[in-house]
Parts: sequence; structure tokens; C-alpha cells
Amino acid sequence: MIKDIKGLHHVTSMAADANTNNDFFTHTLGLRRVKKTVNFDAPDVYHLYYGDETGTPGSVMTYFPFGQMPKGRRGAGEVGTTEFAVPTGSLRFWRDHLAAKGVTGLAEGTAFGEKRLAFDGPDGDGFALVESDARGRSAWTGGGIGDDTGVFGFRGARFALREVDATAELLGFMGYQKAETEGDVTRFVIEGGNAADTIDVERLSNAAPTADQGTGSVHHIAFAVDDRAAQLRVRQALMDTGYQVTPVIDRDYFWAIYFRTPGGVLFEIATNEPGFDRDEDTAHLGQALKLPSRYEPHRDKIEALLPPIAA
Ligand code: ZN
Repeated sequence: MIKDIKGLHHVTSMAADANTNNDFFTHTLGLRRVKKTVNFDAPDVYHLYYGDETGTPGSVMTYFPFGQMPKGRRGAGEVGTTEFAVPTGSLRFWRDHLAAKGVTGLAEGTAFGEKRLAFDGPDGDGFALVESDARGRSAWTGGGIGDDTGVFGFRGARFALREVDATAELLGFMGYQKAETEGDVTRFVIEGGNAADTIDVERLSNAAPTADQGTGSVHHIAFAVDDRAAQLRVRQALMDTGYQVTPVIDRDYFWAIYFRTPGGVLFEIATNEPGFDRDEDTAHLGQALKLPSRYEPHRDKIEALLPPIAA
């Protein structure tokens, strides 16, 4: 069994408009934009990163705003809900705040003893705020949301799957322990990890449609390991179990490997090193357009293709 995984690292989704996306995550949710770069495989598209003050692994929501792209269809084989942790007692604020901002899909409930508020992202993304302990984390307050209500980072994620058994087995192999089951949802928790330590697996009926990826869909979900040595151990263990895992890819702010899981969700394993302050200081994170070195000679051309983003 793998012992190196520490919980979530980041979640990457697809959006339509870059400015709508930026405004929602920085002003409505109050996260900090910690990096403004491009999709390393398609540099005419931004890659925007939002998180806490420094982009701590386990707090980082990232987006590819593709512009014209069909909306995703929700269904089986995807991350159905990305869950953020907020302070206990703050959901009343959030309900009013999100409603005032015109956010749709607001629905309060409880799962596994935690109060939650589901809501839609700007492209129909499935999100929830979950009342949770800070566990050493603190909210970014530069976006105008107070530290008594602000988002700490991720609580976890909920997968929507038609076939759950193989994914449950994989999560177990990755170090997650099966906890409780409520209805069609089973919670898995990683011990000794970061605070973004839950994966909930929801079993959909066989009649559920298969998800189609588009705007508002999660593209992949990344799990954290401390360093490159741990990543290589995880890669080997997965390959020994029969998974097809990509080579290690340099993403400038972390190192990444990817593999497709039996339930259909694309998993990434990402290193906590080197982090988002490797090419700009903490005070100015996310402000300037950062390009990987291979695109730097084409900066003028790339900047001309990208829409300016408001602060
Ligand atoms: Zn990623």
C-alpha cells in the first residue's frame, strides 16, 4: 500500500470566460489568485490558480478558461462536487452572500455530520462549502471575505460513479481508509495527511448518463506527495499494480504524473515542491503573466492572444 499521499493537492477544471472565472473565485469566494500562467500544452489558453495566501497544496483550485467550448454534462465518471472548508457557523453568511451575488443551485444539507451548502460555479460546476475545523489553516482575506468566514482550502471531493468498487480499491491502495456510508455515498479518509483529506464516492444508478467533459467539468484531481522521491515511489507502486502512468512532467510549480482510474476520473499525483513562490515573491503572487521558459521567447505573441484579466 502507498503511504506517501497526503490528501488533495489541487483540482483543475474547465471554464468558459477567464474574467468571469477570475471574478468568481477572487471576489465571490474570496480566494487569492496565486498564479497566472498558460496551459503548458496550449499556451493560447490561461491556466489560473486560486488558493490561500501561498497556494498551499490542498487549497488550490485551477482553471483552463477555454472560451468557446460546450458546457459539460454532469453524470457518471467524474468529480461531481469539489468541497471547500469554511469556519463553523459561517454558512449563514455564505448563503446570503452567494444569493446576493446571483449564485444558483444553493442547497443546504448535512453529510457525515458536517453542515454543507451546495452551489453552482459560473459554468455549472458542482461545489459545496462544508463547515469544518481550521486544522492549522487560515483564509485569505485580501479578497474581501473575513477570516471568520473565509475558505480555508479544500475539505475534499465527491466522485460520481456508476461502478464504485474498483475506485474504492484504488483509494485503499493509495492510503485512504473507508469510513462511514450514508445512503449511496461512502466516505474515504486519509490519516496523517493535510486537511483536504476526504474523498466521498457516490454510487449512481446504472441508468445515470456518462459525464461529458466541457466547461464546468473537473478535468482532473491531483493528490499531494511531499517531494519527487515520494512521487517516484507512488509511480512505481501504481505501475506494479497495472496502472498506466505518465512519465514525470515538470509543471514549474510542482511535478506531475497522471493516470486514468477505473471509474473514469483522471488522477494526478503532484509534489508539494517547489511551490508557487518559485518565480515571484509571496506579496505579488498571481499578478504577472508567468510563462514556462520554452514559451518565454514567444511572450509578445502569447500576450496578444490572451484577454486581459482584471485584478
Ligand atoms: Zn493538475
